[in-house]
Amino acid sequence: MSSQFDVLKMARQQLAIAAQYLDLDEGLHKVLAHPQRALVVNFPVVMDDGTVEVFEGYRVQHNASRGPTKGGIRYHPHVDLNETSALAMWMTWKCAVVNIPYGGAKGGVRVDTKRLSKREIEKLTRRFTSDISSMIGERSDIPAPDIGTNAQVMSWIMDTMSMSAGYTTPGVVTGKPVELGGSEGRVEATGRGVVVALEEAAKVRNLDLGNMKVAVQGFGNVGSTAALLVEEAGGTVVAVSDATGGIYNPEGLPIRELSTRFSGREGGIREFKNAEKVSNSELLELDCDVLIPAAISGQITEENAGRIKAGLIVEGANGPCTPAADVILNDSGKLIVPDILANAGGVIVSYFEWVQDLQNFFWEEDEVNKRLTRIMRASYASVDSTMRAHKTDMRNAALIIGVKRVADATIKRGIFP
Ligand code: GLU
Repeated sequence: MSSQFDVLKMARQQLAIAAQYLDLDEGLHKVLAHPQRALVVNFPVVMDDGTVEVFEGYRVQHNASRGPTKGGIRYHPHVDLNETSALAMWMTWKCAVVNIPYGGAKGGVRVDTKRLSKREIEKLTRRFTSDISSMIGERSDIPAPDIGTNAQVMSWIMDTMSMSAGYTTPGVVTGKPVELGGSEGRVEATGRGVVVALEEAAKVRNLDLGNMKVAVQGFGNVGSTAALLVEEAGGTVVAVSDATGGIYNPEGLPIRELSTRFSGREGGIREFKNAEKVSNSELLELDCDVLIPAAISGQITEENAGRIKAGLIVEGANGPCTPAADVILNDSGKLIVPDILANAGGVIVSYFEWVQDLQNFFWEEDEVNKRLTRIMRASYASVDSTMRAHKTDMRNAALIIGVKRVADATIKRGIFP
């Protein structure tokens, strides 16, 4: 799997389409096509063997018109400024589509964490946090987990920020462990939101989740939770994959067993025997009703879009379908529930976590899940009706809503000075 193509160009192409529909002022379009602020840091880490390595990291704030900026921190060997800027832009639209009071941001470090010890990852995280500390803060820009980071990494970020503040600041980052001011339900939130989006799409298309065959690309936090919840809802997960490749069984895979026994193992889920081995790209083309790409961007392109069999594609990952693939998929009558709607569950519960931290008042999981489901359903409904009103595809409908909210906020605030 690789994301070595121009994702910022892709994000700008999507914005340009929505801008046409909105008849967006040219100057405002220019403002929204660029991140407001970007920081590149090169920082040293003393490795376990005493040698010094230098890592490149980024924090990009795309737009803060609707509130503090929000977005994950990614540790991956392909992270760069271009990708981080695109992901920050998508965060802006995502927060606006589901109407939570944030702008978009993203951060990352170009690193292969598989080659690092836990201690090295901790040192890298603390130094990176310190180097971007002028950007982040509980009222300005709030990081969260993304690919390659998790609750432990968020704890180190929180601790590092708290050490320099001189007191504990839980609201500076979300996706923390529950013991440190994290929210119940945050770990599962993105996958849960993906499945709510899938259920809504199924209703609109008169399909029954109980009879559906679902393939999931990516078995990280988002993919594995979505697969588990599909299984719990009575659907059949026929294929899953991780970085080592995929497995396929048309009769269905035992997802709970896969996530407890095989996920995270050296050989990955491919060690599970009772299934046919497929590659990550073959998985996308399998015979199924629903495809959930939940790995990385740029997986469905003009090259393979014509071979996708699933009628419904629910984007768990950010940017899995390129604009050229969108055209092919839409023309062949497939419904793509776009990333900025489908995977918004994570940032929605991040918002709940931040609200709970600022109030020091914590909710039960049931309350979190109910509120998450309510926001996902309402957002789905408004994207669906915008799609019909504008006779466009679902991605563009979501962008029309998101871009309009950000544009309106920018116009109302005016341009300083
Ligand atoms: N990294 C996640 C995303 O892409 C979550 C961001 C957050 O919770 O702030 O949506």
